[in-house]
Amino acid sequence: MYFEFVCGWCGEANVLYGEQAGFWGTKYELPEEWDCWSCDGTNVTPDGPWTEAD
Ligand SMILES: [Zn+2]
Repeated sequence: MYFEFVCGWCGEANVLYGEQAGFWGTKYELPEEWDCWSCDGTNVTPDGPWTEAD
């Protein structure tokens, strides 16, 4: 599942892949931090619920 986050530094949308965690498939694992593709700023993944990317 892909989730969309907005960079807190430059406002660009970043799409991150979340690995499904657990058998029932209701939880996904994302890295605690990620670097924006646009400005290379480090963002902390917010608490859910997350926005699913198209
Ligand atoms: Zn950015």
